Amino acid sequence: MSFAAPAIKSFQPPRRTLMGPGPSDVPQRILDAMARPTIGHLDPAFTDMMEETKQLLRYAFQTENKLTFPVSGPGSVGMETCFVNLVEPGDKAIVCINGVFGGRMLENVKRAGGIPVVVEDNWGEPVDVAKVADAFAANPDAKILAFVHAETSTGAQSDAKALAEIAHKHGALVIMDCVTSLGGTPVLIDEWGIDAAYSGSQKCLSCKPGLSPVTFGARAIEKVKTRKTPVQSWFMDLNLVLGYWSGEGKRTYHHTAPINSLYGLHEALVILAEEGIENAWARHRAMHEQLKAGLEKLGMRFVVAEDARLPQLNSVYIPEGVDDAAARARLLNEFNLEIGAGLGALAGKIWRIGLMGYSARPENVDYCLKALEAVLKA
Ligand SMILES: *Cc1c(COP(=O)(O)O)cnc(C)c1O
Repeated sequence: MSFAAPAIKSFQPPRRTLMGPGPSDVPQRILDAMARPTIGHLDPAFTDMMEETKQLLRYAFQTENKLTFPVSGPGSVGMETCFVNLVEPGDKAIVCINGVFGGRMLENVKRAGGIPVVVEDNWGEPVDVAKVADAFAANPDAKILAFVHAETSTGAQSDAKALAEIAHKHGALVIMDCVTSLGGTPVLIDEWGIDAAYSGSQKCLSCKPGLSPVTFGARAIEKVKTRKTPVQSWFMDLNLVLGYWSGEGKRTYHHTAPINSLYGLHEALVILAEEGIENAWARHRAMHEQLKAGLEKLGMRFVVAEDARLPQLNSVYIPEGVDDAAARARLLNEFNLEIGAGLGALAGKIWRIGLMGYSARPENVDYCLKALEAVLKA
C-alpha cells in the first residue's frame, strides 16, 4: 500500500487565545515541563514526583484524603471512575440535572446498573436544595447523591455544602463533579464532606487535557472494598489502580502512566501552590468582575442570576440579529480567539466565555472585550 506524503510535515498549531469552556491557555512553563525527557513510569525519580503530585492535589482539593490522584484519562474518565466503583447494580442514586454534565451522570448511573432518581432544574439555575431534600424523603433507600458543582454548559454553581449535608443525613455517599470549579472557585472536599470527586486538568488548572484528578474519602473506599460484585471496568477498578498509585514505594504495574503529561500536571499544581489557592480564587473573581463590566457596556446579558454565577464560565445571550457561527468564526480567524458556543437547549442562543486558570488575566479580558466589540459592530 502506498501513501501520499503528509501535507502536515510537523504540526504547528496556530497561536490562539483560549477563552471557551476548556481547554484554557497553557502557560509556557507547563509546556516546557512536558517537553522534558520521558523516563520509566516505575523509575524512582518519577514515583517521587507522583508522590508530590498527590500531595499537591490534596492542597487543590483541600482534603486530607489519602486516595487522591490523577486518573489517566480526561474528566469523563474521572467521572466514570467514580460511578463504576461506587454504584453497584441495584443501588438507588439521586442524580441532579441542571445542564449537560448532570445528564452524563445519569447515563453513568444507568450503565453501572443503578436505579436513578432524577432531580431536574432549569438550565442556568443551580440545583434546588429543597427538591433534593424531597427526593431523599421519597427515596430513603437512596445510596448515592450525584451533582455537578460547576455546570460548564450554563455557568451555574450549586451549593455543594448544603447538598452534601442532605445526603449525609440520609446515609448516602456524595459524588461531585468539580471539573470546572477546581482551582477557580472554592472546592472544600473535607469541609463539605464530599465522599468522591473528580476534576480535569484543562480547565482552571490550565494544564493540557487528558488527566482527571480524583479524590475518595474513607466512606467511599469502604463502599468499594465491600462491593458484592466486582467493578465491571478493569481499567477503572480502584482496587487495582490502588496498587500503582498508593504503593508507597513498592509500586506494581497497572498501566503505563502518561508520563510527560504528569510532568505538566505537577508543574500546574506547583504554580497553583506558588500563587496560593485563595489568591487564585480571588483572581478568577476579579477577572470576572472586569469582564462583566465590559460585557454589560456592550449591552450583553448574563444567563445565570448573579448569586449563582461562576466567575470562570460566563454565559451571555447572543445579541439579537447576530449570527452565532459567523461571529465565532470571525473571532477565531481574525482574532485567534476561541469562545464557547451554547450546548443542547442553549445552542445558538448563548456564548460561553471562559476565564479559567492562566486565561483569567487582565490582558485576556481586555483582548476578548475588544474583539467582541469589533465583531458585534460589524
Ligand atoms: C469538561 C467537563 C467534563 C468532561 O471533561 P473532559 O476532560 O472533557 O472529559 C465533565 N464535567 C464538567 C462539568 C466539565 O466542564
